[in-house]
Amino acid sequence: MTLSIESQNKLDAFWSHCVKNQYFNLGYPESADFNYTNLERFMRFSINNCGDWGEYCNYLLNSFEFEKEVMEYFATLFKIPFAESWGYITNGGTESNMFGCYLGREIFPEGTLYYSKDTHYSVAKIVKLLRIKSSVVESLPNGEVDYDDLMNKIDRDNEKHPIIFANIGTTVRGAIDDIALIQQRLQEAGFKREDYYLHADAALSGMILPFVDDPQAYSFADGIDSIGVSGHKMIGSPIPCGIVVAKKKNVDRISVEIDYISAHDKTISGSRNGHTPLMMWEAVRSHSHENWVRRIERCLNLAEYAVERFQKAGINAWRNRNSITVVFPCPSEDVWKKHCLATSGDIAHLIVTAHHLDSSQIDRLIDDVIADRQANAA
Ligand SMILES: *Cc1c(COP(=O)(O)O)cnc(C)c1O
Repeated sequence: MTLSIESQNKLDAFWSHCVKNQYFNLGYPESADFNYTNLERFMRFSINNCGDWGEYCNYLLNSFEFEKEVMEYFATLFKIPFAESWGYITNGGTESNMFGCYLGREIFPEGTLYYSKDTHYSVAKIVKLLRIKSSVVESLPNGEVDYDDLMNKIDRDNEKHPIIFANIGTTVRGAIDDIALIQQRLQEAGFKREDYYLHADAALSGMILPFVDDPQAYSFADGIDSIGVSGHKMIGSPIPCGIVVAKKKNVDRISVEIDYISAHDKTISGSRNGHTPLMMWEAVRSHSHENWVRRIERCLNLAEYAVERFQKAGINAWRNRNSITVVFPCPSEDVWKKHCLATSGDIAHLIVTAHHLDSSQIDRLIDDVIADRQANAA
């Protein structure tokens, strides 16, 4: 099997494109500083993690042992005893969220799922696919859920079993919903802990908060029932992937015995990527806690630097606490297009990820934003 010269050229051109743009990213939260060359040799195998890493599997080319160790790592990170948890490596934050919402719906089939306006667009898709009753809650200006509106809507709906979809780092403003406050408000409204389900979408900040000095609440110890985090964002991965961790007792309710693979199936996909668990395993085994702390500290410091530079130039930039997302007024189209920024309404953001070793790329953007503003003011 060989490619025609024309096809080979096309592929080579794409290679050059990737090399040139490897670190382009300033608007999306994808770290590009990973190195999984150690795993390239496994690309010749059809590795498939169909089913549950915890069970016997007669498909020999699985990476279950690695997936299990990754899950052990994340159970510890998110403060749940490994034996009481179950989860798996998903195709990304969306599948992780879908799994959490699925568990919530199986526990409360008639429950309404509440999510804020700042929630990632995948959730609207998930509630449609899972046919969950849902209600959109207002957001506060910083992107957190509006706690009063949440309680008003639960009350208005006379909802007995709310499924709360909380953001631990929103996509646009990096906002973190206060899950301690949500639970306090629910308790004040007469809800017992077993009356509601709480999923945490920690796609980005799930790999930040465990490594900062003064984290907001995010873990099972803080009262969540499940959590999703993306593998290709803060950690970094050439293939999109995610991690979801839930309570084992809740997962056991959805487990189905499959005769054909002689195992129990709990996951959303059938065949599952067996390569991404190797990548996540290499990521967690090759970084010490101290490494993550320093890597995240560097990102947070650069984000603060960006806020200060903007503000010194009279531009109203800001960020949420423990967030690497810097929000600023949306510049002209040629500026945000040039830097491949994500925009939302009248704001834009830059996200400092781990491949920003110094401020040079951020400075180039800020210079352009400042020049753009001066040109428009003139
Ligand atoms: C990126 C993101 C998602 C979706 O994750 P994918 O890995 O792209 O599926 C969900 N929620 C938030 C807050 C995100 O930032």
